[in-house]
Amino acid sequence: MRLVFLGAPGAGKGTLADQVCEKWEIPHISTGDLFRFHLSQKTPLGIEAQSYMDQGKLVPDDLTCRLVEDRLSQEDCQKGFLLDGFPRNVAQAEALKKYLEGRALSLDGVVSIEVPTDLIIQRLSGRRVCVSCGASYNVNGQIPTNSSVCDRCGGSVIQRSDDRPETIAKRLETYQESTFPLVAYYQKTGQKFIQVDNSGDVAESMEQLKRQL
Ligand code: AMP
Repeated sequence: MRLVFLGAPGAGKGTLADQVCEKWEIPHISTGDLFRFHLSQKTPLGIEAQSYMDQGKLVPDDLTCRLVEDRLSQEDCQKGFLLDGFPRNVAQAEALKKYLEGRALSLDGVVSIEVPTDLIIQRLSGRRVCVSCGASYNVNGQIPTNSSVCDRCGGSVIQRSDDRPETIAKRLETYQESTFPLVAYYQKTGQKFIQVDNSGDVAESMEQLKRQL
């Protein structure tokens, strides 16, 4: 199964993607997580990506596409993968198409996770994440038992620097300008396109998604 997950930052792509990957036994490839890993290791790629991430802008396509192609060429992606946060614009979608076509492969589906903007802002500003395992919490609801310690792995739970209000606004603007056009792009390709309303209960969204997959 080869899938792409589209959706604004904070739409809940990561949570649903984790569950889909567990069920279909495919790797969850989040470009945001890959960039944050490079950043934590202070690799040249991480250092270059940081200024874009801090400003809520997209990291340049050449860097991003190389990172993704490198990841897709690894052994665990041979039986499928789920891309979360990639592609983020039409140029990246074209690069992915070319990469897959070159290997006689194609996507099995594109999933669009949809949530109204006011709810996204509320979710992002309350979001807290574990620096070690990436588990996601929210001060407006699901918080760790001990507020700064991850229930899953004991790591530190923090607010991502790009979840601060000024960067959230920029990320949503970037999404509208660059990523939202991918909905029309993929609908036009005749690709299996699945829309999931994730404004309510995640378990219900997951049921909707599983039925359609
Ligand atoms: P995310 O965790 O998906 O919200 O991504 C965090 C940040 O990483 C984004 O705001 C971008 O700066 C960068 N990023 C993640 N994925 C991409 C992508 N496909 N293209 C360019 N930049 C990306």
